[in-house]
Order: sequence, then C-alpha cells, then structure tokens
Amino acid sequence: PDVPVGAILAGAARRFGARTAFHYAGQDLSFTELAAAAARFAHGLRERGIGRGDVVALHLPNLPEFPIAYYGTLLAGATFSPCNPLLPPDDLAHQLDDCGAIAVVTLDFVAAPVAQALGRTKIKTVIITGLLGEPDVPGLCDGAFAECGVAFAEIGAGRPDTPPEVEIDTADLAHIAYTGGTTGRSKGVMIPHRNAVLCSLQYGCWAAGSVPALDEAGGLILDQVGALEEYPTRLGTGVLVNVAPWFHAMGTIAYLNIQLLSGNTVIIHPRLDVPAFLADMEKFQATNLGGAPALFSALFADPSFETLDLSAVRGISSGAAPLSVEMLNRLQERFPDAVIGEGYGLTEVTMGLTANPSNVSGLRKAGSVGVPVFDTQIKVVPVEAATVDDATPALPAGQEGEVCGKGPQVMAGYLNRPEATAEVLGADGWLRTGDIGVIDEDGYLFIVDRKKDMLLYNGYNVYPRELEEILFSHPAVANAAVIGRPDEKAGELPTAFVVRSGEVTAEELLAFVNEKVVPYKKLREVIFTDEIPVSAAGKVLKRDLRDRL
Ligand code: ATP
Repeated sequence: PDVPVGAILAGAARRFGARTAFHYAGQDLSFTELAAAAARFAHGLRERGIGRGDVVALHLPNLPEFPIAYYGTLLAGATFSPCNPLLPPDDLAHQLDDCGAIAVVTLDFVAAPVAQALGRTKIKTVIITGLLGEPDVPGLCDGAFAECGVAFAEIGAGRPDTPPEVEIDTADLAHIAYTGGTTGRSKGVMIPHRNAVLCSLQYGCWAAGSVPALDEAGGLILDQVGALEEYPTRLGTGVLVNVAPWFHAMGTIAYLNIQLLSGNTVIIHPRLDVPAFLADMEKFQATNLGGAPALFSALFADPSFETLDLSAVRGISSGAAPLSVEMLNRLQERFPDAVIGEGYGLTEVTMGLTANPSNVSGLRKAGSVGVPVFDTQIKVVPVEAATVDDATPALPAGQEGEVCGKGPQVMAGYLNRPEATAEVLGADGWLRTGDIGVIDEDGYLFIVDRKKDMLLYNGYNVYPRELEEILFSHPAVANAAVIGRPDEKAGELPTAFVVRSGEVTAEELLAFVNEKVVPYKKLREVIFTDEIPVSAAGKVLKRDLRDRL
C-alpha cells in the first residue's frame, strides 16, 4: 500500500475509537482523541508556516505529547527528526543543525541544551511541555525562549480536529532518524513515508501471522490489508507497558506505529523504574512485553518479576541488541505460553530486516535473528567485497560474511553525506549492514558480531559475542561485555568486563571460557565491574569500556 504514515493513525482512530491508546499519570488518551490532538497540532504548525519540506525535531522522552507531535508533524506534511532527550549539548546542537530543523518540541527540564543550541541552528519555534502538561520554564516568556517559545497546549488550541488538507507524496521524508552513535558520530538516516508504513506493516503482519495483500490501488492501508483487520482476533488487542524510547528506530516503529495498527493500549513509562514498571504490568494485566535485552536483565534482577501475576503476557519482543540464548531460555521458562519474537535491524532499514520465529506460529531457532520479513531479501557477502548489487554472489550457507539487505524499508540515504551513503548503499538498493553474520541451510540468519567490534588477535578474527555468550552461561555472571585491550605484540587482547551475581574468581572465569574455545580466541583478562554501560536504546557502549581501559 502506498499511503503516508498518517493513514496508520486514521485507521486506528476509525477501528479502535474510544479505546485507550495511551495511558500516562492516571490519564487516558483514546485513539479518537489522539487523532484529533494530532490534527490540531498539525494545524498549529501550518499556521506558523511549518509544512512540507520542513523538519520538526522531537527532543522528548516518552510522554503522550510524543505521539501527538509525531503524527501532528507528519499530518502537517513536515518531517520528524527524533533526538535523545539526554544527548550532551554538543551532540544535540550537531543533530539539530545537521537535520536543518526549524522547530523543536522539548520538555521543560531538558530544555536548557536546546537553548544553548539555538544560535547554531535554524530553529525559529520551540514548543515546550512539562512532565504533567504545563511547562515550567522560567525563561519561556522572557528568557532564552522569549522570541520563539510556545507552550505545547497552545499550539493546537482551538484548531480543527480533522487534519489539514496537505499533499503528501509517499516519497517525502517522514523521518530523519539518527544512528545510535554506538560506533561513531551519528548520521541522519532519510526514511520516506513509504518506508515507515511498509516497515510497520512488515512487522505488524509478522505479529499477525500473515503477509499484507498487495494492492496498487492506494487508499487506506487498513482497508487493503485483510491480515490487519484480523489482528485483534488473531492476537487480540492488548496492553503494553512500554519504556522502549520512541526516539529510536525500534521505538518509533514497533512500540508506536505497530501499537496503533494492533489497537494495543500503551502504558507510558518515560524512564525505567523497575518496581513501578512491574507493578503496572500486573495492574494492567499486560499482554505484551518488549524492548532491548537490557530491559529483560533489569527485570530479572528484581525478585518480584518471578512472583507477580503476569499471566496475561502472551507476546514478548526483543530487538536492538543480541538476545543471548541464556536470556531467551529464561524468558521462555518464566512465560511458557508466550511467543518470544526477536527482530534484527538498524536505523538504516527503518527498523528491521528479519524476525525469529518466521511468524507467530513459525519455526524458531535459538540464537538466530530469523528470516527476512515480507518483501525483504538478505544475503551474506565477503567482507572485502567492493560493491554489493543484485549480481554479487551470496556466500554459501554456513559461511561468515557481511550481512546485506534489500527491501522497501531500506533508507533513501544519509542526509548530507553522499560519500557515506555510497559506502553502504549499492546499486539495486542493497544495504551493507556492517554486521557479520551467517545464513544456515534453512535461510535463518545468525549475527556473529558487528564488523567494528571484531578483534584482531595475532591476525585472527575474534568475535566478542561468542565469548560473551559463554560468559552468560556461567551461573555467577549477571552481565558481561568483551572488548580488545590494545597490545603491541598481539594487536588486541580479548578482555571481559563482568558483573557478578555470585562467587567466582577471574581465574575461574578464564578457565571456564577458555576450555570451550580454540586457543587464538582465548579470553586474556577479566575485570569485575558494577555495571556494563548501555545507551538509551539498550546497546552496550563498548567505546565507554574502551575508555575505561
Ligand atoms: P552507530 O551505527 O552510529 O554506531 P548503532 O549501530 O548503535 O549506531 P542502531 O542502528 O540503533 O545504531 O543499531 C543497529 C545495530 O544493532 C545493528 O547493526 C546490530 O549490530 C545491532 N542489532 C540490532 N538488533 C540486533 C539483534 N537482534 N541481534 C544482534 N544485533 C542486533
């Protein structure tokens, strides 16, 4: 279906109307109210001269204002660019400047870095909200935001509840999403409306156990996609207690757009407070649980996770980082009747390329990220391949190489970076992911590690993830991450940071790992630590660990 993202909102309002879409701080926002609020927001933007071709940045944690501003921006014909609200001021200024935003939506107590960035950007309008609606910004009227500040509630006040008439081409940019920056300075990824809709459908249909009906006629997606009309009867509309950040690729698609497609009620938690999160899972009888594996580790660390009544949980989804076989097994033991899904992807593919199991009732292989989602191809090519296109032969099953993907969710390119784009996006639309993987005889993809995290020991490739998986299987290891310690003779020495959950010595752990690997992969050092640093999206920050060394 070739429709803009606003069609997802319109479809949800029509199908789920008065049902609660979002619940936050004791207040409910229904699907109808969400659609009306987004429409008013869109009118407010347009009256300020913001529309097609303009970029609106969202510098917000998860709050009800996020979906209102997200869909409102898109209904106005403008492009949405999400920013992590905890970005250091310099990185925020870089991002706001790089994406060319002319407006930003922010939250009062994280607004100071926005004020600092103003002079370096094209921003003319700063829309400010507070944790409970009313913004509390001393400078809103007479300080840094005197010229450009406006309260969130004012933007849409008194405007029509139906979207403005705006021409939107599905090739127009819906998102300029920044890469996580785990491995370097983050780049803006251009995602057209078409990609965002199709990626939501690819995973939404995966969850519904079906594939979309392809119809070139246009019109509302939900009228065309039989499987989505069936969604509530296949899985039932449910409840998700969500902490996965919407400013990240996985959050925007899986935990925002797909929640609207499925009619789920989302209980918003702007930050992870484990006891409060678990209490809400029980109170609202959550049917779904989802996020990065770091969330599951945090939940298991609270003993009440094992004892609360969480019997309504029937779907668990994991993404953004590797789900260890150990964690998969723990989750399945805790929720024997739930389907556990894992997606694999990157910002450059809107959200994802593959899913495991192959569909809700399909085959799951532990340790694999599954098979390509609908209308998607993957192949593994030699890391040293100069270019990747349709003609580039794939390596045979079982051989490691760089994972490449092709499909309607692949980005249009990096914003302002034609050279970086050319490095990863080949002719015919093949994207090099920068991940090393292997595809088995049945077409299941296994991610070995990131190309950039690979270590070189005396010229041999060592993949930290293999060593991490072994460490995770030790009963006294709560968490672990392996990086290379630079060494003049060997190049890099595999070194583990380990968080203990029981008694164990470094020597015991070295022996435990090293008896299971070939000699060149041996772990050379274990450093005990209290925590492994993770990004807001739940990825291990290996560069922080390298700094510690
Ligand atoms: P940058 O590219 O700037 O360093 P980033 O890689 O952190 O940022 P994302 O696009 O959010 O930004 O991360 C994508 C990467 O996350 C993938 O390339 C892959 O290495 C990893 N990843 C995502 N999902 C999975 C998964 N299910 N299993 C293993 N790795 C995953």
